[in-house]
Amino acid sequence: MTFPVNSISLNDGTSIPQLGLGTYRLDDDDAYRVTAEAFAVGYRHIDTARIYKNEKGVGRAIRESGIPRDDLYITTKLWNGDQPKARDAISSSLDRLGLEHVDLYLIHWPAPQRGTYVEAWKQLEVLQQDGLTTSIGVSNFEPEHLDAIAAVSDIVPVLNQVELHPLFQQKDLRAEHAQRGIATESWGPLGHGSVDLGAEIPALANLAARYNKTIAQVVLRWHIQEGLIIFPKTSHQERLVENFAIFDFAISADDMDMIRGCDVGHRVGAAPADGNWD
Ligand code: NAD
Repeated sequence: MTFPVNSISLNDGTSIPQLGLGTYRLDDDDAYRVTAEAFAVGYRHIDTARIYKNEKGVGRAIRESGIPRDDLYITTKLWNGDQPKARDAISSSLDRLGLEHVDLYLIHWPAPQRGTYVEAWKQLEVLQQDGLTTSIGVSNFEPEHLDAIAAVSDIVPVLNQVELHPLFQQKDLRAEHAQRGIATESWGPLGHGSVDLGAEIPALANLAARYNKTIAQVVLRWHIQEGLIIFPKTSHQERLVENFAIFDFAISADDMDMIRGCDVGHRVGAAPADGNWD
């Protein structure tokens, strides 16, 4: 039995499915196969990016699925070197995806050393007005980057997609988001394949046994109950099913507190200011 995925309301009046599929490190062929399998499981939200080089594969799965466009939520992202030409970049992404619009377009990294993200935000406003993307947001932004775009724009990003998992819970940034009306997406919700959360936090195995779930399911459910938006990545069909089966149980308040207490500030990816790659 499958349970419906919750939606999170965004500050522009739209809403986003709280659980989706991440596609980092899937090539076009794998992205096609895994996205199609995910649709069969019930996923309707896909997170891709120009830099993942798999928008064509995702697009093919969308086209062949027969699922009404309005039932899907598709995110892609503006890569650093494309910041000065966002319109060209989104047009190319839409071509590869075979779509007329995406639901969400994100500035992938502020890449502050390049000095172009504030102007890119102004361009995203126009892309939204022109209907190429329904919503606009950011990724890997720190408060100073949010301040810089707020200084030139009345449009607040609907969300900020940042590294977030039990070892790195971003509590201060999430408080900033709450004040500004920005939702939070967790990338690397299971540790980005770089850290074994079960080994680092032995208590997770006890919780998993108690709830009759896997460690991954407990961690994903923790994100859901924290109000975070997640799109764990897997290329395995059985894990697609596993990661989707998190709406039929609830973690108790005490156990949520226990996981909240495991935050050790351990970042596994790049710090936002360091992501200036071409
Ligand atoms: P993730 O936390 O989703 O971890 C993926 C790893 O967990 C993979 O190695 C996978 O094999 C493993 N895994 C998945 N399901 C599992 C299960 N049920 N049991 C055990 N292991 C399991 O990491 P991610 O892919 O980095 O993050 C998710 C998505 O976030 C990406 O695919 C991408 O779409 C997005 N992302 C965005 C940024 C950004 O800068 N905006 C950076 C990284 C990732």
